[in-house]
Parts: sequence; structure tokens; C-alpha cells
Amino acid sequence: MTTTVTAYAALERGGPIRPWSYEQRDARPHDVRFEVLFCGVCHTDLHSIGPWGQTYPLVPGHEMVGRVTEVGSDVTHFTVGDLVAVGPVVDSCRECPPCRAGLETMCQTIATSAYDAQDRHGDGVTRGGFAESVICDERFAYAVPDGLDPAAVAPLLCAGSTVYAPLRQWGAGPGRTVGIVGIGGLGHLGVKMARALGAHTVAFTTSAAKADDALALGAHEVVVSSDPEQMAAQANRFDLLLDTVPVVHPMTPLVLSLTTGGTLCSVGLPDTFDVAPFALTLGRRSLAGGGAGGTSENREMLEFCVQHGITADIELVGKDEINTALARLAANDVKYRFVVDLGA
Ligand SMILES: [Zn+2]
Ligand SMILES: [Zn+2]
Repeated sequence: MTTTVTAYAALERGGPIRPWSYEQRDARPHDVRFEVLFCGVCHTDLHSIGPWGQTYPLVPGHEMVGRVTEVGSDVTHFTVGDLVAVGPVVDSCRECPPCRAGLETMCQTIATSAYDAQDRHGDGVTRGGFAESVICDERFAYAVPDGLDPAAVAPLLCAGSTVYAPLRQWGAGPGRTVGIVGIGGLGHLGVKMARALGAHTVAFTTSAAKADDALALGAHEVVVSSDPEQMAAQANRFDLLLDTVPVVHPMTPLVLSLTTGGTLCSVGLPDTFDVAPFALTLGRRSLAGGGAGGTSENREMLEFCVQHGITADIELVGKDEINTALARLAANDVKYRFVVDLGA
């Protein structure tokens, strides 16, 4: 006996989000079902409603916070009433080396996306957090820490995880100079986290008007990347650049601002990398990729955010404003993350 769930879905590719209902599976032994309270709006949602989508109707949303309403017979970490958070990955093989290390987003078989993916156990297509209820395996649910605003925690599960994992991987910390390129949903959390990790933190923005905001987020300095003079002054300076820009942009001046052996990690998924190989060759510099972390990294991130009081800066919108939020996100008009209030 399934459960009928009201959700907010794109009924066809590129279509607007509309109310839609579907039958949600029964709880398997390790599942938690939760009433969604808040869900962040990510760039991936835009891509998925548009070119990346596989199966319509498609229910987006993978930055979820909710309250547990049902637990399967073998659930050990949660009980009914607990606040939980769930991110972009809701299942994986559990057996490959990354899965065994708690890096399930890099599962060598397949990491199951929170929405628009085939359930590994034959229960159809996964559905996201723009809904009154979601069900997933407890392994991929996190306790929402006390002391943080649950609405502002939601974006930590994708945007926060996507910047925290590479900052840790490449050693952002005391004595290191770290640049965060692009100050949006990901970048604003990158600035907060790099600063809290103890790195000398520099924000790169194309717009001088954003400088004060970047300083307020915690940046020690701001570089206007569209100013060739300012960029030339950064040469050979950075141990790590975390590039969050989601569109194709000139990366050679950025790579040249890396120190010898430095790394530029791109997490924005632009269509291609616009970089001259000589810039990598000259300083033995690395171009790297990264994405959201696995369960071990996410647990560490949430603990770190509690210690440092870090959450996303959000604009909370109602269920009837999802289309407006998506349109404004596409136009880069948000400070810095939309979160949909699904409990209201
Ligand atoms: Zn996302
Ligand atoms: Zn795996």
C-alpha cells in the first residue's frame, strides 16, 4: 500500500513547476520517511528541468530538511519526530572502495541521485524535495544539528558540501592562501568556510559592486577578476582556487595566480574549461574537479558548521513561488540561496 504524496513537478521538459501527486513506496527496513519542511533551490534543478532531465513528471529539489514521520523496522539512527537533512545522493552500491570510505557520491557503480534516477531496488524513479514527503535510506540522512536555523541548513547539503569537500581535500587552513571564485550560492559558503578553516581567504568577483558583500561574508580581500591589473597582481599567489562559476569563463588568468604546484578546483560544471595548457605547465599547476561530498565528509561538515555557526544566507519563499525563484536563480538574482518553505 503506497502513500499518495503531493509534490511540485515539471510535467514536461522545460515546463513550469506545478502541483502533482504520485504514489510513494512503502518503507523498506532501513528507510526513513519525512515530512519536507524546507528545500533549497540549486542550479542543478534548473539543468534537470531543462536539458539534463530523463523522466517527466520530474520532482526536483535535493537540499532537504524535514521531520521524520515513519521509520523502517531496522532503522537505528532516527526516530519519529527527528529533524533530518538529505542531499543530492540517496543510495549507492555500499561495496566499492569509495562507498566503503564514506565517499558515496563517487560510487564506482552508481550513486543514486535524489531525483530523476532509477531506484536500485526496482522501485521506480526517485523524486526530490519539492514535495510534502520524501523517503530514503537512513544512511543518506543526517541529523540536523541543534542551534542552526533548519531553513538555512538545507543548502549546506549540496552547496555547502560541494565547497567544503574540496577545501578539505586541498588543505585549506592556516598558512594557506585560498581564493573563492564567484560569490553566489556555492561561493558565499566557500568564503565562510575557508575563513573558518583558518585560510587567508580572497574572494574573486567580476563585479566591484559585490566587494562589500564579500568582505561581510568573511573574505580578507576582494579581487575584481574582470580588472586585468588586479588579476596581474595576483600572479603566483594562491595555494588553492575554488572556482564555483557555472558558465564558461577565462581560466588562464586564474591559473596564473596559483603558486607553483597550486590547484584550481572547478565545482561549477561549466560546459568546457577555457584554459591555456602553458599556464598549467609553467608552474606544475593542477586543474581539478570536485562535487558534493559523501556521508563521512557531510557529517564532518555539519559538525564544523555548528562549531563555527555557519549556515547559508537565504531568501525563504513559499510553495507558490518556486517558478519565480527558478527564474531569478537563472538570472543570478538571489542572495545567496533560495529555500522553499514546504511546511507552511
Ligand atoms: Zn545541488
Ligand atoms: Zn559504491
